[in-house]
Amino acid sequence: MAIPVMKPLLGEEEALAVAETVRSGWVAQGPRVAAFEKAFAERVGAAHGVAVSNCTTGLHLCLHLLGVGPGDEVVVPSLSFIATANAVRYCGATPVFADIDPLTGNLTAETVAAAITPATKAIMIVHQGGVPADVKAIRAIAGDVPVVEDAACAAGSTLDGNPVGTGALLAAWSFHPRKLLTTGEGGMITTDDAEWATRLRRLREHGMSMSAADRHAAGGAVVESYVETAFNYRMTDIQAAMGLVQLGRLNGIIEQRRALAARYHELLAPLGLRAVTDPAHGTTNYQSFWVALPDGAPDLLVVLGKLAEAGVSARRGIMAAHMEPAYAGHPHAPLPGTEELATRSLILPLHHEITDADQKHIVGALADALGLVAS
Ligand SMILES: *Cc1c(COP(=O)(O)O)cnc(C)c1O
Repeated sequence: MAIPVMKPLLGEEEALAVAETVRSGWVAQGPRVAAFEKAFAERVGAAHGVAVSNCTTGLHLCLHLLGVGPGDEVVVPSLSFIATANAVRYCGATPVFADIDPLTGNLTAETVAAAITPATKAIMIVHQGGVPADVKAIRAIAGDVPVVEDAACAAGSTLDGNPVGTGALLAAWSFHPRKLLTTGEGGMITTDDAEWATRLRRLREHGMSMSAADRHAAGGAVVESYVETAFNYRMTDIQAAMGLVQLGRLNGIIEQRRALAARYHELLAPLGLRAVTDPAHGTTNYQSFWVALPDGAPDLLVVLGKLAEAGVSARRGIMAAHMEPAYAGHPHAPLPGTEELATRSLILPLHHEITDADQKHIVGALADALGLVAS
């Protein structure tokens, strides 16, 4: 039995909350979604939360809201889950790949500046693997170009002393089980702008002037109208019930992940291996714990194969969209930092059931795979 790379922390409380929702008879978007939106937005320091079906649809709605369309460019990292770049294509616009700093996995003010053109309609930065990007520096060079934050992995990470999300123009979050909080599938957009929040609520629900829950609450004869062509990107109350319980676990989850990450750092240091760590301007929730392969190390697939033989489900590092068939032929500037991290790093297992013995075994297996001895 291999040690899995990630395992969601789910308890009886989640099961009960879901069962209660089913018994209540209201399972689609309703009061629990509203409560989850409020609680989540508060936790990340935003005025409004708009729950959506997943982070990918959330990113799409953010760009749609900003009027991104054909002929527009959006600066994105290639080093990200493919959904970041795809959200731009959903709008008929062109993703322009900017390079990342291989020390953090994130875009920098310099790499973003190099990718901006007169056609740039938005910049979508990613807090990759939970590591906060330097939003302040990027917004400073962005001028009037709006900066959207793909915060899929970053619930509970901090930036300049506040939770990631604080002061964000628009941030999109994921509740997929590979992230720290899960609702099975699910996502959220947060913003401080009340008008944007209202429009986003309409955009996720077919462009309806009034939500089904509001019509139900109003009683009597209320007729909605459909004011614009929009989408069905709703979250269900079943998911939100789970999300509310999960949110209560977030601080504990982060505390444990950071302790496990600190132990990995201790074990990796004598091997001379570099791993993801806090950047100067914030703290990571360690959604992904990646390790850079040293010069001269075998091919990534060979290392992953050896780890699998030792019962360790490690994963290749964060992917690069421009290296995937879906983006073959898509023009881009050289992306050396991106290619280095995508092809020469791997993600080690990190979750609540990992023990100290597991961590020693994992790092020992990695040292064997790399032919390294602790010094
Ligand atoms: C997971 C992830 C997404 C997609 O999230 P979903 O909720 O699965 O749609 C988008 N961007 C990044 C950076 C991610 O890690």
